[in-house]
Amino acid sequence: MRAPNAPLLLLVAACGDAGTGSTSAASATDASTASPTSGPTPTTGPAAPTTAALTTAPDATTDASAASDSAGPSTTDIADTTDTGAPDDPPPTCAPVATDDGPDLPEDYGLATIPPTMALVDTFYSYDLRTNIGDCATDRVEWTFVAGPAGARVELPGVAATLAPGDTYVHEAGGAAREQVKVTWDLQAEEPGCAGFAVRWRAWRDCGALDEGAWAPALTQTWDLALRRNHWYSGDLHVHTRHSERGEEAGSAYDYVQRMRNETTNDAGEDFADRRQRSLRGRLHWLVFSEHTNNEMDECGGHFAAWCEADAALTAATGRDVVRQITEDLRGEVLLVAGAEVSNKFDGHFGFLPKNPYPGHPLYAPDYFENPTDYTLDVGYGPGVIRERWVDDAATNAGEIAQIRAMNALAIVNHETGPAFWVTYDWSTTDIDGLEVWNGGNRHDRYDDSAYNGELDLDEVTKNDLLTLEIPEQPIDRSWLGLLKTGRWPLVLVGGSDVHDYNEVVCFDGPCDPTQAELATPTTSVWAPRFVWADGHDGVADGLAAGRVVVHDLANFIDLRVTHADHEHLVGDTIENYAPGTPLELRAFGRVARFVDGDNRVLLILGTRVDADDPTVDVLYSSEDAAHFVTPLQGEDHMRYIRPDSSFDRAWTVTLDDLGPDAAYLIWAQFVPWHNPLYLVGNGQDMALTGAIRVRG
Ligand SMILES: [Zn+2]
Ligand SMILES: [Zn+2]
Repeated sequence: MRAPNAPLLLLVAACGDAGTGSTSAASATDASTASPTSGPTPTTGPAAPTTAALTTAPDATTDASAASDSAGPSTTDIADTTDTGAPDDPPPTCAPVATDDGPDLPEDYGLATIPPTMALVDTFYSYDLRTNIGDCATDRVEWTFVAGPAGARVELPGVAATLAPGDTYVHEAGGAAREQVKVTWDLQAEEPGCAGFAVRWRAWRDCGALDEGAWAPALTQTWDLALRRNHWYSGDLHVHTRHSERGEEAGSAYDYVQRMRNETTNDAGEDFADRRQRSLRGRLHWLVFSEHTNNEMDECGGHFAAWCEADAALTAATGRDVVRQITEDLRGEVLLVAGAEVSNKFDGHFGFLPKNPYPGHPLYAPDYFENPTDYTLDVGYGPGVIRERWVDDAATNAGEIAQIRAMNALAIVNHETGPAFWVTYDWSTTDIDGLEVWNGGNRHDRYDDSAYNGELDLDEVTKNDLLTLEIPEQPIDRSWLGLLKTGRWPLVLVGGSDVHDYNEVVCFDGPCDPTQAELATPTTSVWAPRFVWADGHDGVADGLAAGRVVVHDLANFIDLRVTHADHEHLVGDTIENYAPGTPLELRAFGRVARFVDGDNRVLLILGTRVDADDPTVDVLYSSEDAAHFVTPLQGEDHMRYIRPDSSFDRAWTVTLDDLGPDAAYLIWAQFVPWHNPLYLVGNGQDMALTGAIRVRG
């Protein structure tokens, strides 16, 4: 049994109006006219009142320390560059949406949603089309799938039949199918371009006791879906095999690969093949194995073993030669990398994220020899052995970070806080390369909010239609967002399932088990125009280092773009030379799977100045907020919530009036978390957390 549909905003902390008195840095304006025929952008609301007088931003005085491609252990900035990868192809220009919404219609009768008009190939599209049948409703409606791609269907709730393009169905049985359908299309084998759709609906209305009734006007919605090339590659970089503490049932590297490729399932019989519910792209593309260093020392005789144990078969072994050989045997269908979880007794665990584990390798790093990961660097304890507290009680976190960097890997703080005190990071240094912003243990909980955004109370935003709020965590630099506010850029963000068993299940036909962890829950999806591990710009590790990342679970995903001066940017990018007061076009599109918890999702686009002294966060768009961002369509405001199992596509234009003392501003997007009150620290799922786009004056 699945969790019942519970109110989305059940857990609201008692907390003052954090936004009071602060000056918004942002003012929102409508992306285009509110006309439903205004173009492919499904803009929903009127212009919000412009706030905040323009403030002249001082010149940017960023810390232009040298880009540290070297193994140098302790520069505060990893790099300060906008050259993080090839730009994406622009979206195809497609025909605008046309929605019948004429003045002759009864006020309570009409089409109540605007279709998502952008999607990524190799994902799944479903438009949750809603109508408003009104007070004169009867049980009879007629749906026609006038036109659509051959593989698309119209699904009616509670009705077994689905409509192919050209089909008409008269529904006589009442219920939800009178007012809602899903337009679905599996985009697995599709190519970029424009795809046209048209759906027609009419209802039999009967407004009088003696009236026979009549068909109300037939309404047709026509739209083009802009299909974009998909450069997102999904993986997990917190994965433990049988060589980490739980024994044989945890499985080997090979067992995990079989899961990635849907050659085997989890214990509930599920795989990743279903793009609609289970994954972004139908499988996993890459994996970083992260054995606990102390366990690996015990079992393999050292850290970063080449082949552990020596006489083990390929299907049972782990190690850096093992994962390379599997990758070669599969001809690069997947990229497997040996990392580590540097596992102190206390005070913190570090993810070891290799920059270039196999320099020059035709699959991993063709012709690229920079930043070779040195798995055998000896700092006095043996080749490749990390000096951590299990090895030397006097080791420090700063020293471990320095060694990780000297080996040409990135030091990621895992589960920076959490229910188990002995794995919590001590914050003895903030000079880290990144944060695990969602650890799969206990599903998505308040500790993950703490790691990502300093525990922003987003329930308050939705409850009170706030336009600003404040980061509560102090000191502020103990989250990914807080560190960005101190001027760090880029800063890696990753999700890690922390799975210790390749086929373990967290949520299935019953209450979710927060003591379990499941592969790719969460998933880290990286924007990489080239499916190699590293080439200095466009590989998976390059994208991770640049923060071109969305952390999410299942098929939940937010692709955030910001267009400025006709150039589109994605997460990890910097918009340079921004003149305060000029428009930034925000667009967030993607999907949500059916929900494990709750019954809707609220999409937020948020922004904040790069200013560690100012905890203010601006709400740039809130899909739930009818006061500022959403207007009703023909009597209903169905656009406020992201419904289960549906695609979404929301656009809004903002202007930034004050970029703050560093003349820099950050924009990101996420869903409002739903933390199940059944669990002590609250846990949930159905989440997506994006990296940030930086705006500089
Ligand atoms: Zn750990
Ligand atoms: Zn772990």
